[in-house]
Amino acid sequence: MSRHPPAPPLSDVPLEPGLYVVATPIGNLRDITLRALDVLAGCDLLLAEDTRVTGKLLSAYGLSKTMLRYDEHAAERARPRIMAALEQGQSVAQVSDAGTPLVSDPGFRLVREVIAAGHRVFPIPGPSAALAALTLAGLPTDRFLFAGFPPPKSGARRTFLAEVANVHATLIFYESGPRLRASLTDMAAVFGDREAAVARELTKLFETTVRGTLSELAADPRLDAPKGEIVILVGPGVEQASTAEDADSALTEALTRLPPGEAASEVAKALGLNRRDLYRRAMALKDGR
Ligand code: SAM
Repeated sequence: MSRHPPAPPLSDVPLEPGLYVVATPIGNLRDITLRALDVLAGCDLLLAEDTRVTGKLLSAYGLSKTMLRYDEHAAERARPRIMAALEQGQSVAQVSDAGTPLVSDPGFRLVREVIAAGHRVFPIPGPSAALAALTLAGLPTDRFLFAGFPPPKSGARRTFLAEVANVHATLIFYESGPRLRASLTDMAAVFGDREAAVARELTKLFETTVRGTLSELAADPRLDAPKGEIVILVGPGVEQASTAEDADSALTEALTRLPPGEAASEVAKALGLNRRDLYRRAMALKDGR
């Protein structure tokens, strides 16, 4: 049996001029879209964060391409060449080592410059570790906040965590194995003991997910500097109970539009409070008490 996937049928429609932001696999090489392969095969210029990493992906699909290195260090130097290619009506594709470029990866400044120069930007969507982890964590998905990598030092990390602590959403962080325990410990201290998950080596041979509260995870020996790539997900905290003041101001406003019974129902629903208590309070407010 062949080690590599069979070469897929590629489109022979020429690419329109512009910048193509191409997502690539985060582990399993088969997680690439046919459209991504079309663009990698057909682009005039391919920007790669690490040409060896992208070279392996290309060769797995029988492709070869001259690449221009585009990482944090080479960005300034590479940009004039990229802009010149776009001016000449060429198609330029950008990939990072894994996942979606611009997501904790280079590319944001380039995209802004390309937009400002009036060229088109085409997304070629595909894998990203943040979304892959969200789908298996078992935490709410209706609202989530991607927070990227926490700072490496504990003081700065706690300040950073405090900034997102009151966002009512599942929080998603990227982290490295050696810093995992320290980050989980700081998260337990700043967020309290919320539900959380650690997803490691997604789509790869040693894919593992550990779920539990933050303090359980911080003490779990399996999470002691594990090897590989890691996403931490933290469930939303319990929303603060509404105060009597909140209830009064919501009721006062509702009473300008509605009779007391309906005002109490509306506020009870919005703040998750008892309707009968609110009705009594609405009557008192109406009487000027
Ligand atoms: N652009 C990428 C994306 O869309 O996911 C992220 C690039 S960022 C430099 C690399 C970080 O993503 C890793 O340190 C890890 O936190 C996370 N990551 C990437 N691949 C992963 C995988 N297979 N499993 C778990 N986390 C992964």
